Amino acid sequence: MNAISSRAYKLGELHPFEGGDRRFIYLVTAGAIFELDGAAGKLIDRLSRAETTHDDLIKELVASGYPEADANELIGEMYRSRVIVSGEVGRTPLAEPPADFPLQTLVMNITNQCNLSCTYCYEFGADKIATPAGKAKYMDLETARASVDFLMKSSADRKGVHITFFGGETLMNFPLLKNVVAYARETGAAHGKMVDFSLTTNATLLTPQIIEFLSVNEIGVTVSMDGPPEMQDKRRVYKNGRGSYATVEPRIRALIANHRTRAITARVTLTDGVTDVIGIYRHLKDDIGFHEVGFAPVTTSAKTSYTISDEDMRNVVKQFHTLADEWLDSALRGMSHGFSNVSDTIGELIQGVNKSHPCGAGLGLVGVGPSGDISPCHRFADADAHSLGNIKDGIDKEKQNDFLSRGHVNAKYDCHTCWARPLCAGGCHHEAFVRYGDTGHANLHYCDWIRDWTNKCLEIYGAISAINPTFLEKFAERKALT
Ligand code: SF4
Ligand code: SF4
Repeated sequence: MNAISSRAYKLGELHPFEGGDRRFIYLVTAGAIFELDGAAGKLIDRLSRAETTHDDLIKELVASGYPEADANELIGEMYRSRVIVSGEVGRTPLAEPPADFPLQTLVMNITNQCNLSCTYCYEFGADKIATPAGKAKYMDLETARASVDFLMKSSADRKGVHITFFGGETLMNFPLLKNVVAYARETGAAHGKMVDFSLTTNATLLTPQIIEFLSVNEIGVTVSMDGPPEMQDKRRVYKNGRGSYATVEPRIRALIANHRTRAITARVTLTDGVTDVIGIYRHLKDDIGFHEVGFAPVTTSAKTSYTISDEDMRNVVKQFHTLADEWLDSALRGMSHGFSNVSDTIGELIQGVNKSHPCGAGLGLVGVGPSGDISPCHRFADADAHSLGNIKDGIDKEKQNDFLSRGHVNAKYDCHTCWARPLCAGGCHHEAFVRYGDTGHANLHYCDWIRDWTNKCLEIYGAISAINPTFLEKFAERKALT
């Protein structure tokens, strides 16, 4: 008996799922999806019952009618791709990111001031970690231009770079924003780079002139909005407690009607009492006309008046599934659907992402606060404890390496055996800090939900690839353009 014939196999790290009546596996070590044909399915079933030797697997496949040569080839292929393994299942450690990772996205917090006082906002609420005492409230022109120069220099050979404007309320510093767009276009052209722009706003300050500017300059817009009046006015309020729906509704309608060059997205924060996901979606998508609507449950450090109860969270998840089924239904008819929580995950599955870090924060993306301090992302803007340097002197490599090594999925013990880690990688650094006081901690409070959601999106992916695969190709092309 040679070494191969006696080799005992077991399943590698994989997550089986079904879609469109076909069987698939999600291969965790590669972040890749494979459809199982009859022979591969038999092999997986056999090994999920017990470890089996090479010879016994061959015998079983041959007894089921597969030629021995084909059975040998199949086992060899599955072994090489680590679908099946011998010895310890082990993990293929992810490579460390390269020491000099060129910057792609700069999130410019052009002000930390806001004309609303949303009761859950991380700028004002329990999740606040910024320490702007004594620091600038509005970014000035010199800092803004230095930030653009920093992006040009730090993006090395990248031909496309992205600037996203954030606040506070971004439009409270609109004159600066206009100036940055002109300066970045000019500087980008001199460096042979295309600069793409986007912003997040609460929409209260939109005017026809601003909308025209955003449209002419092809600036992507995300509006923070929580739904119809009874939802929006619960927590998205002015300082005197007045709701903001009546102010934002006509402005958003004007934005959607007159911003002709980019899709307009709504981002909804779910809090206690603001959990009617389907009602909110219908209002924002069908009544108001947003192109995409995405939802995120609020990040909170502890029990607050706006924390969603466990029971309500289960109900939120149920509604997510209903909208996800609609998304699939549309995709099978070749139509797009605006529920961006599915679109974003499907986009990542198509790319085959296998993340070392949950997001680009501190890696291909950094934030810059009004003071010019660099942070891992906009949520850490001007928080001294999380500063990664200043745009005048550049990134402090030691601090950046510390942030990145703590946030690497390999450093998160609980994630080592989790099949969802290629997409999750432990979750948002900011949320981890708020919950656990450490940006490198895995967000263990939402693992069940992440795995449930990832599985749902895998099933959607599988069903589309079985029934209407051209949709996935077109979807990938569209995503590449946005
Ligand atoms: S945080 Fe939880 S769901 Fe995410 S990779 Fe880690 S163990 Fe998995
Ligand atoms: S750390 Fe969190 S908030 Fe910041 S970019 Fe990453 S996921 Fe987003």
